[in-house]
Amino acid sequence: MATALITHDACYDHVTPPGHPEQVARLDAVLGAVKDLDLIRVKAPLVAEDDLLRAHPKAYIDSIKDAGPENGWVSLDADTHMSVGTLQAAYRAAGGGVRAVDLVMVGEVASAFVATRPPGHHAERETAMGFCFFGNTAIAAKYALGHHGLDRVAIVDFDVHHGNGTQDLVEEDPRILFCSTHQSPLYPGTGAAHETGVGNVVNVPLPEGAGSDAFRTAMETQVFPRVAAFSPQLLLISAGFDAHEDDPLAGMKLRTADVAWVTERLCDLADEHCAGRVVSMLEGGYDLQALGDAARAHISVLEERGR
Ligand code: ZN
Repeated sequence: MATALITHDACYDHVTPPGHPEQVARLDAVLGAVKDLDLIRVKAPLVAEDDLLRAHPKAYIDSIKDAGPENGWVSLDADTHMSVGTLQAAYRAAGGGVRAVDLVMVGEVASAFVATRPPGHHAERETAMGFCFFGNTAIAAKYALGHHGLDRVAIVDFDVHHGNGTQDLVEEDPRILFCSTHQSPLYPGTGAAHETGVGNVVNVPLPEGAGSDAFRTAMETQVFPRVAAFSPQLLLISAGFDAHEDDPLAGMKLRTADVAWVTERLCDLADEHCAGRVVSMLEGGYDLQALGDAARAHISVLEERGR
């Protein structure tokens, strides 16, 4: 068994305005950091309409299809901009997650990391926001249920921001457990502990400057036990690397070692409950060096554990 690295060159064509943190260079930072790792390299396909429709209404999908500019940018909100290549990149980012689920579910690989952009965890059912257009991780989870017939899929989101979009897309479906650690208060302002969906949402807000100990304690006491009790058949990770101490957008003050640690522990849970099946998807991470270092640490653990 091995670990897949799923990406597509179209993800370089989602170009954000100058100075935007969710920039093309992020993809090179991730891919460059893992170029020597022994991974099965797979091209992300375009997502199928039916797979998008499990998460987003047709009218919303059509509005995104129609919104793209012929040149320059169209802004869907203050942070979220479409360039000429954005739609294709967004289709590859969502399609990458679907492909990853297929590869892991048929046992072609033990685990997969989807290195695509735009990210997805802020995209709500009918709202693009926070650099995100489609809910890539939620789409992958719903695909695993709908196409592979699973009954229980867990998503753990350790991006420093709350995954409001993922929560919006899954909070009424008890077949999906969504657990998020995030800095609070911080964008997008959601993710309070009392937001629990239908008992399938676990939000663990952490204060600015929380650091390694608070993060690890939150995971050990509030996230891992819930994942274990849920006993997922597939574990998805929304892997945002912006909780790193060098990230310019937040201040949770994690180190690269914390990313390796949480990945190891999530692989332990996957080994215990779902034959090691892990699909991890890139979300945030805006300091290019920290992003590369943390992504490498994360993917290295997946690769070692997948052997
Ligand atoms: Zn983030």
